[in-house]
Amino acid sequence: MTERLIRVTGGRCLVDTSFVECDLLIDDGHVIDVRGARAGGTGTGAASVQAAWDGADELDVAGRRVAPGLIDLQINGGYGLDLATDPTAVWELGRRLARTGVTAFLPTLITGPSSRRSSLLEALARRPSGFVGAEPIGAHFEGPILNPDRRGAHDASMMVEPSAAVIESWDAASGVRLVTLAPELPGALECIEALVGRGIVVFGGHTTADAAVATAAVDAGMAGVTHLFNAMASFGHRSPNLVGVALSDERLSASVIVDRVHVDPVAVRLAWRALGPSRFVLVTDAVAAMGQPAGRFEFADRGAVSDGRAVRNDDGTLAGSALRMDEAVRNLVEITGCTPAEAVASASAVPARLIGETDRGHLGVGARADIVVFDDDLAVTDVLIGGEVVTRA
Ligand code: ZN
Repeated sequence: MTERLIRVTGGRCLVDTSFVECDLLIDDGHVIDVRGARAGGTGTGAASVQAAWDGADELDVAGRRVAPGLIDLQINGGYGLDLATDPTAVWELGRRLARTGVTAFLPTLITGPSSRRSSLLEALARRPSGFVGAEPIGAHFEGPILNPDRRGAHDASMMVEPSAAVIESWDAASGVRLVTLAPELPGALECIEALVGRGIVVFGGHTTADAAVATAAVDAGMAGVTHLFNAMASFGHRSPNLVGVALSDERLSASVIVDRVHVDPVAVRLAWRALGPSRFVLVTDAVAAMGQPAGRFEFADRGAVSDGRAVRNDDGTLAGSALRMDEAVRNLVEITGCTPAEAVASASAVPARLIGETDRGHLGVGARADIVVFDDDLAVTDVLIGGEVVTRA
């Protein structure tokens, strides 16, 4: 961690729900002071703080938007790297993700053998010394406790029913942060309660859950829905299913893949209006094809083909995305007309809150100095991770 003092000056920082003029002072990887009209910083002028401001290296971001680093709760790979094929690639993925404004992420494994999940947890525990990049802050197991009837690109033969044995070694301390499961499977509610009790966040997905089952799952502690609309029973006005519960029950958040392929823009607008800016979570669900030219890719033992926009298995099923998180932010603004602040929060403050990362997702005093700077077109110009400048315009 750097001991170098940095002041980030001249920008407009994301504070609550808007960008306001403010300067940040960073020391030892954290924000230690904030100055600005509405930023709520100290600005006290205490001599030691003033000396720190004066002695800090300046990062001039005049006129640009300064936001907390983006957090991706669902990413399977990118830049030709497939985490299912090689879990140890998680660190290289983190290095490369930083340029997209992502500063923390949950490496995600779709349904596969348990040995693969163990390998990812082992890889996460072996942080390379001196690593600087987007931080993998725990695993997202998207499977194997899913419904074969909504398998998507997953291998249905590897799916299992909930049991104490399947989740035996899963807990937050060993690096499992998020589990997606199908709540209609027998024993799923007990499984949700057990996982939540071990500090794991549970989302519903790859599921046929109807509204009654979905509500029971929320009562049991399910906090969100994985890629809303995709791989789940559709909304009907007499059969609202999990989609209807997600849109109407304020206890649930929902992740959405806003790549213009997975979900029609009309449905994105519907979800945005129903969920509002505090329950809508941007995820990429990116695979190895992200950041690469069109072509064929490895994805969890099966090939997939990217046309640069959509990634599909040979049978035509969507197999993750080629979406970058900064693109998702821009897409959300264009599709819904939401403010840039709201879109950025959907990829930072909201996911941070969902997984309990209290020192991420905001720029207040004490926050990690994970910072992304955007220009007026919401293109990423500068990225700081743990107070280190990793990308500079
Ligand atoms: Zn999925």
